[in-house]
Amino acid sequence: MNVLAVGCHPDDLEIACGGTLAKYVDQGADVYMCHVANGNMGHVEILPEPLANLRAVESESAGEVLGVKKVFNLDIGDILVNRFDYEAVDALADIVRFVKPDVIITHNDMDYMQDHIETSRLAFNSSFIATLAHKSVQYAAFNEFVPIYFMDTLAGVDFIPTHYVDVTKQIDRKLKALECHESQIKWMLEHDGIDFLDMVRTCSRYRGYQCGVAYAEGYRPCTVYPRMTTKQLLP
Ligand SMILES: [Zn+2]
Repeated sequence: MNVLAVGCHPDDLEIACGGTLAKYVDQGADVYMCHVANGNMGHVEILPEPLANLRAVESESAGEVLGVKKVFNLDIGDILVNRFDYEAVDALADIVRFVKPDVIITHNDMDYMQDHIETSRLAFNSSFIATLAHKSVQYAAFNEFVPIYFMDTLAGVDFIPTHYVDVTKQIDRKLKALECHESQIKWMLEHDGIDFLDMVRTCSRYRGYQCGVAYAEGYRPCTVYPRMTTKQLLP
């Protein structure tokens, strides 16, 4: 099984679906992460260029902790993610063609900031465009309408999951992957007054309460033609 997770900033996937990705890996799947924005605005002191470089390194380390095959980086500056950025659409379509995913996980189509919402649309559009033979960039078309699951919003606001993944066995790895994003632990404390690791653990625990396990992550499927499936694609 091949899994492609498309997040906005380096750390978003770890926050919302890190346990699920680790669980896929544990079950023998080939998991690929892609972050669309480079996170270059996410710090008070570190300037955008060195910050983008630092965050790329942090996300590589987090990917190693989770055990994924590769971490792709579209390297788009923060607040510039745009569903009509056709260079980004083509680049992501090529990643879809390379990975040939059985399932795509991405942001919910409504979340707390615009780059997350645009990333969700980019993943949706790119995985459609990846099927088009005459829109080939690097790899040949991948003629599958890949089912998409939307992951939880930040802090679970305005998101009622229809599907839950038990990540009790993976919660420590999820948090260890998050710890790799050292710059963000500092940033979230200074910019948002949040203990990042505590927030993520609490949200996973809260989703766990809802489905009767210690820790869980919640999802909703993208319900448009022909993305629906009879297959059980979440681990
Ligand atoms: Zn983000």
